[in-house]
Amino acid sequence: AAKLTGGAAYRFFSPDLDERAYRHLVLESDLRQATARGELEVYFQPQVACSDGRGIGAEALIRWNHPTRGVVTPAEFIPLAEESGLIVDIGTFVLRRVCAQAALWASRGLNPRLSVNVSRAQFQREDFPALVLQILADSGAAPSQLELEITESIAMSDPASVAGQMAPLRAAGVRFAMDDFGTGYSSLSVLTRLPFDVLKIDRSFVSGIDGDTPECRVLVRTVLAMARGLGLEVVAEGVETKIEHSFLRDHQCASAQGFLFAAPMPATRFETWFIAHRRRDARLLQARLRTA
Ligand code: C2E
Ligand code: MG
Ligand code: MG
Ligand code: MG
Repeated sequence: AAKLTGGAAYRFFSPDLDERAYRHLVLESDLRQATARGELEVYFQPQVACSDGRGIGAEALIRWNHPTRGVVTPAEFIPLAEESGLIVDIGTFVLRRVCAQAALWASRGLNPRLSVNVSRAQFQREDFPALVLQILADSGAAPSQLELEITESIAMSDPASVAGQMAPLRAAGVRFAMDDFGTGYSSLSVLTRLPFDVLKIDRSFVSGIDGDTPECRVLVRTVLAMARGLGLEVVAEGVETKIEHSFLRDHQCASAQGFLFAAPMPATRFETWFIAHRRRDARLLQARLRTA
C-alpha cells in the first residue's frame, strides 16, 4: 500500500501534470481578461428545415480568439469558465451580443430564430429571468426571436425550480430548447412537465443513423414519434451525411444543424448565408444538396 501511495504521489507531482495545472492557471487568468480585450466572439451555426433546407435560424456558439494560442475551443474553456464562475459574465456577454444582433437583423427585415446555450450556474441564479428580460429590452430584440438551450441534465436536476425560472421568460415569448437530448438521465415525464418548445437530439445518435447497427435508427425514430405526440419540435444536431439528412426528413424531423449544411460562422457571414437560404431560394439549395 505504501508503495502504491508513493507511486501516486510521484505521479501527482510529475512534470506532465504540473504543466497541465500551470496551463490551466494561465488559461484561467487569460480568460478573466478575454471579454474586456474583445477576444470572445459569437459564431452562428445555421439551422435548416429538413424538408427543403431553407434557413430557420442559428445556434450561437462562442469562440475565443486567444492572442497566442489561436482559437481555443469551447470544449477547452467552457469547463474552466464553469469551475471559476466566469461563465456567468461570459454568458451575459453572449446574450447581449445575440440580442443586439437579433435587433439589427430585424431592422434589415431578417428574423432568424437565435438560440443561446445557458449553463447551469447562469440559469440557477435567481435574477436570471430578469436579466434576460432586461437584455431584451435594452437591445430592442423581440423575445420571440430568442431561444434558450438548457441541457437535459440541468432540466432533470430540479424540475420544479427549472419550471419557476422558465415561467416569466415563457410568458414574455422566449422559447426553450432541451439540448443534448439522450445523453442525460432523463425521465421522460420531465418532458411533459416542463414547457420546452424544442428538443435537440444529440449528435451521438444522429451520427449512428448511417451506421451498421439499427439501434440508433430505432432510437431516433422513436424520439421523433414521441416529440410529435407531445407537440415538440425536433432539431437534429451534428448532421454530417446525406443519408442522415434523408432519414431525418423521411421521418418528419422538422429541423437540423450540422456540417452537411453549414459550420458555425461569424455574424456577417451568417447574414449572407441567411439571405441566400430564405424560402424563395430553397429549391436551389435542394438541387445543390441532391448533387453534392
Ligand atoms: P452544443 O450546444 O451541443 O453545440 C453543438 C456543438 O456541435 C458545437 O460545438 C458545434 O460546432 C458542433 N457541431 C455542429 N455541427 C456539427 C457536425 O456536423 N459535426 C460535429 N462533429 N460537430 C458539430 P462547439 O461550438 O465546439 O461547442 C461545444 C459546446 O460548448 C456546446 O455544445 C455547448 O455545450 C458549449 N458552448 C458553446 N458556446 C457556448 C456558450 O455561449 N455558452 C455556454 N454555456 N456553452 C457554450
Ligand atoms: Mg447547444
Ligand atoms: Mg447539443
Ligand atoms: Mg454518421
